[in-house]
Amino acid sequence: MHPLRTLAVDFNSFFASCEQQEQPALRGRPVAVVPVVADTTCTISVSYAAKARGVRAEMGVGEARLRCPELTLVEARPEVYIAYHRRLREVIEACIHVSEIKSIDEMECDLTATFAPREKAERVARDIKARVRREVGPCLTSSIGIAPNWLLAKMASDLQKPDGLVVIEEQDLPARLLGLKLQDFLGIGERMEARLRAHGIDTPARLYAATKAELRGVWGGVEGERMFCRLRGEHIPFHCEGN
Ligand SMILES: [Mg+2]
Repeated sequence: MHPLRTLAVDFNSFFASCEQQEQPALRGRPVAVVPVVADTTCTISVSYAAKARGVRAEMGVGEARLRCPELTLVEARPEVYIAYHRRLREVIEACIHVSEIKSIDEMECDLTATFAPREKAERVARDIKARVRREVGPCLTSSIGIAPNWLLAKMASDLQKPDGLVVIEEQDLPARLLGLKLQDFLGIGERMEARLRAHGIDTPARLYAATKAELRGVWGGVEGERMFCRLRGEHIPFHCEGN
């Protein structure tokens, strides 16, 4: 049995949300954060109102403006986002132990102090959301995933955006993930998907049906075995391997 031991917090459209928190006139509007305001640059982070108009992060500003002429461009202010990151981290630390900072808008938290039953873990998640809303601001919404390990918690957080809360328990596997694309799995990018397909693994169902030895073959080493175990809820820390 693999208990729920990991809670993943991922802030939605982080840089754009910080700007909307700082500048109330931008709230509810299509906003794109860019490194420099120019037509030749790319978006870094876009608000949900912009996403609804087909604008995406890492899209050329020319195309973004074509899709959404009323798009507001905001020049990135890294020092502001770092300050928000620090405050968010403090607020989350007051609710639960943050075991690893994955990126400026992504944190791994550890539920093992309580080996939290589902209701307790969900209560922690709701507490995090409420405190962030109250103490940092209502624009900083997050998607929270709760699962037996980081891979599954992170994927759970991706299942509902924005402002999501999704629990994946061992008994939900693999059913809960069968509707995804292979590249929705943490650790499977374009190249790994091509390798999986070359081995006849072209769906999540086939990924789960593959043996440990087959995945070892696809990954070309022990990482394939780790993937096999993580897909089933085993807790194998990522930081032990330098990634
Ligand atoms: Mg995010």
